[in-house]
Amino acid sequence: MAEAAKATQAVKGEHGYHGNVHERSKALMEAWAAESARRARTGEPSATIMISGNCVEILRAFDIHPLFPEVSALQMAIRKQSLPLILKAEQVGYSSDNCAYVKADIGYLLSGGYGPEGTLPRPALVLCNYVGRNVYVKWFEHLAEFTKAPLYVLDIPFLREARPSPDDVAYVVRQLREVIALCEGITGKRFDIDRLREILAYSARAEEGWVRAKELCKAHPAPFDAYFDSINMMGPINVLRGTRECAEFFDAAVPEYEGMVARGEGPLPEERFRTVVEGPPPYPYYRSFRNLFAKWGAVAVQSTYSTVGGIWEFGFRHDPERPLESIAEQMLVQNLTNRSLLDRYGQIRAYVEGWRADALVIHSIKSCRLFSAGQGDMREYFTKELGVPTLLVESDLEDPRYYAEAQMRNRIDAFFEALEHKKVMGR
Ligand code: SF4
Repeated sequence: MAEAAKATQAVKGEHGYHGNVHERSKALMEAWAAESARRARTGEPSATIMISGNCVEILRAFDIHPLFPEVSALQMAIRKQSLPLILKAEQVGYSSDNCAYVKADIGYLLSGGYGPEGTLPRPALVLCNYVGRNVYVKWFEHLAEFTKAPLYVLDIPFLREARPSPDDVAYVVRQLREVIALCEGITGKRFDIDRLREILAYSARAEEGWVRAKELCKAHPAPFDAYFDSINMMGPINVLRGTRECAEFFDAAVPEYEGMVARGEGPLPEERFRTVVEGPPPYPYYRSFRNLFAKWGAVAVQSTYSTVGGIWEFGFRHDPERPLESIAEQMLVQNLTNRSLLDRYGQIRAYVEGWRADALVIHSIKSCRLFSAGQGDMREYFTKELGVPTLLVESDLEDPRYYAEAQMRNRIDAFFEALEHKKVMGR
């Protein structure tokens, strides 16, 4: 049975999703990259900002183009361009166990990638939305040092209770007002609260669409892989949140997936195992890694990585009626990197139960301690306490030197063989 099923998936060939969502996402991301390159030449203002729990809507209110070094780094990894850049950063002293995103970005900067001759503009502001990791602060300090741009570090209190205290919110709002004053100085424009409300309404519309799309993965089969295909939606929701284009993208994506659910279509010829995936993907080997799961008919129905920009699926939306307060709440609460490991357990458990998954897959990232610390305990908890079959594999999200294909394949095959056996035996 196991062999026959494997053969079926193999005959259907390598997985490649090329639906409308993918095409529209690609076009939007290309337009964002083109705008970055244009601003590199013209000098119109841009600002670097992080994905997790950011306040990009404030930049948009001033037409400051947001640059996301994490996204440029992962794009280099997907294009298999990251290694020489990582090596360049190591040559100037970055250690081998430093976050490889940082090294690829700094390597790119040292190679002339930022500035009029490159594809990324020199930022007018380096805005560090510090959210639970010192790597962010150091990375952005270095960016500011190399580009000579002003640095502003937002200090976001760690989420200690289910809700932040009113003082925590007020503390962040005060800092947001300082960021607004900085943006006024950079652009010469007066802050327009109505413009910000309009932008937040677009954010909320896109968040609603993103959540509806993920809810559809409760269907059997799920209409898309909520780990691998989520990248098509993570681009727009993270890079373009707050724009009309982003809201419209989700307005169109949801009916497409609803149609697939109605027709009983999924991303693979057959959905045989439903997984929840924790941790970012190995971008330099994205397709190979995906195929290791696809050949078993394993589809991710939920993932934590897809919520790295915001955890909207438990009800939070940006609120145009409470503009700065809702931005502060997003940064404090709906932020994967500003929460405890136990909160992450709770999120994963809700996914396994709510999306009726057969297994948890943890992809541990060698150069990212923020995500990887504690994942051994996480595996123990899900396997032993909750009885959820859990696979832990390790490589890197940016550095191709850490991806060992044969070892990875053996681990994944052994795991699904055991899962298959359990299924056949009805246990
Ligand atoms: S979360 Fe990990 S990969 Fe992302 S910037 Fe921090 S250390 Fe790097």
